[in-house]
This record gives sequence, C-alpha cells and structure tokens, in this order.
Amino acid sequence: MSLNHVRPWRNIHRRKSRQIMVGDVAVGGDAPIAVQTMTNTLTTDVAATVAQVQAAAEAGADIVRVSVPDEASSKALKEIVRESPVPIVADIHFHYRRGIEAAEAGAACLRINPGNIGDEKRVKEVIKAARDHNCSIRIGVNAGSLEKHLLEKYGEPCPEAMVESGLEHIRILQDNDFHEFKISVKASDVFLSAAAYQGIAEATDAPIHLGITEAGGLVSGTIKSAIGLGNLLWMGIGDTIRVSLSADPVEEVKVGYEILKSLGLRHRGVNIISCPSCARQGFDVIKTVEALEQRLEHIKTPMSLSIIGCVVNGPGEALMTDVGFTGGGAGSGMVYLAGKASHKMSNDQMIDHIVEEVEKKAAELDAAQEAAE
Ligand code: SF4
Repeated sequence: MSLNHVRPWRNIHRRKSRQIMVGDVAVGGDAPIAVQTMTNTLTTDVAATVAQVQAAAEAGADIVRVSVPDEASSKALKEIVRESPVPIVADIHFHYRRGIEAAEAGAACLRINPGNIGDEKRVKEVIKAARDHNCSIRIGVNAGSLEKHLLEKYGEPCPEAMVESGLEHIRILQDNDFHEFKISVKASDVFLSAAAYQGIAEATDAPIHLGITEAGGLVSGTIKSAIGLGNLLWMGIGDTIRVSLSADPVEEVKVGYEILKSLGLRHRGVNIISCPSCARQGFDVIKTVEALEQRLEHIKTPMSLSIIGCVVNGPGEALMTDVGFTGGGAGSGMVYLAGKASHKMSNDQMIDHIVEEVEKKAAELDAAQEAAE
C-alpha cells in the first residue's frame, strides 16, 4: 500500500512480489520502489563514469547501471564499483564471459538474458558466478530484440511473445535453482509495454523492473514514461523503475522520482505546488519557481511548498502545504507555515526568505523523524 492510507481514494495496492537484493537495496515485496538510471559515459573512462554515478546518486538514484561491452570495461567496472555510493548493475549482452567478469568485479546485479548467452554450460557458468558473488540478475526482455523463434511464432513483437520470452528466461534460471532475479519487458510503444508488463505481472511473482525503452528526449520521453509507467504503477505493478531519456542520467532520476511522487509512492525533497500565473499574480510566479527549484535542490526531506500568485487559490493551497507563499499586491505577499497565515514578506526578499523557511522546516521534520526512530 502507498503512504496515502489516510485518504483511501489515493491508495495503490501493490502487486505482491518476491523480494530480492541488489547489493544493499531491497527490490520487491514491500520495499520502496527503487529508482534507477544508467550511465552514458565510456565505462573505460572510470573518472567520468564515477562522476556520473555520484551525480545520479546525489539526485536520488538507488541503483545505477553501467554498460560492460568488452573486457576493458569489466576491468574498469571493478574500480567503478569500489567508488560508487550505490549498487551497480552490469549491462551485458550475449557475452557470457562479460557476465562472469562483471560478477567477479563486484556488480550487484547482471542485466543479462540467460537464453541469449550460448549453450547450457555457459549459462551455468554465469549463474554460478552470480551466485558465488552475491549478484542478482535482471532478465531484460526487449520488444526490439525478441528471439527469432518467437517472432516466427507470433509474426511480430506483441505482448504474448514478450511474456513468453520472459518466462523462457525465467525457466532457465529456475532450472538452475537461481531465484534472485527480477524481470523487465520493455518496448518503446506505451501500449505494447503496458500490455506486456500486465501479462508478466500475472505470470510470475518475480520483482518487476519497469521502463519504457528509448522513450525519447527530455520532454517527449518524460510524458511517454509518465503515461506508461504511471499507469502500471497506479495498477500496483513495478518494484523498480528506470526512465530512459536521451538526456543526462540526473534528469532520468528526477523524472523517475516525480512520477513516484505524483502517485504518492515515494517522497523525496520539496514538492512545489505552483500556479501557472496570470494577470492577477502579485509577483513573478514563473521566475520565482525556477529560482526556488534550483535553490532547494539540496533538500532531501519530503515536504511541500506552495507558491501561488494571488489569493484566488493561495490560501487554499497553503492549507495543505508545509510552507506557502501567496501574492497579495503592493509588492508583498503572505507567508504560510503549516497551513496558517504567519507573516507578510516583501516580494524582493521572498526567495531568500522562503529558502530559509524551507530549510528550517526540513531540519524540524528530520529531527522529528529521528526522534520517532
Ligand atoms: S492563483 Fe491567482 S495568479 Fe495564479 S493563476 Fe490563479 S488567479 Fe492567476
């Protein structure tokens, strides 16, 4: 169930899945839905890759995936794992040797499709390496790379083919008594992805990694992901998510969090509620929100802030937020604390002042949280 149990119309009943570990991050069961991203540096450029992993982790990524296309990357992976503040997933395609090397290098999880890495002996070797090194596996079915026999059977990539592919890979792991796995069935088409995910969610109790693959650029990909992942999450499907954007991994993490925040599934940082502004605004809402988004990036405590241009909606929104500001004319507005009108503040000082109030409130909430633990 979500954190919204006080208001039953907001409840999301999560599908029951087994829980696995990706390093020290639990995925599935009642664990928080983990946010992932993937680096886009050359893995062999250790410094650049570690910098990207750290930036993603700072933005809230729980898990980061790194591509391991060759032996040099396997070597680099060892150093990256050592420097990384979060568990690293090694992305492997076809090369069973890379899978073994990545497990040995300390990857917390291998993204590998066991049916695509050669004969049974090779599959067994990779599974043994994963088991020996406490490494979980993600089966990553992709509509664009379905097995030939399934394309022949179904004629084209379709949800049934994707689910069947997933189940075939699952069977290989289970036949080898390996159960620390999760699964994804991604497609770039929202409908195909959603149908495939619903199918696999019914067919297995494995934790599910959600993603709309190759979703596009920052704006179009965000919308596509919000619709596709948002619907599935709302249905209760999904234990970890990755938003794929042709953009900085930090943007992927931010979008992932925003999707989860919109559904009340996770909370992190300041949720800014702001009006679109119009002729009634008592101050420049758009510029103010832009500035506050930047100035409040360091706040990790879940809390809410309303920035509303005028009294039409300001007091009502402020009622439900930790800190609020409502434009009121004559170059000043009203500051609300915990839903109550507190004091007036001039427009030219309000950004600094709101940052201070938010920081104060965050410290207060953190202290209350610590006392409760
Ligand atoms: S809250 Fe006021 S300023 Fe903002 S859009 Fe509504 S009427 Fe306009």
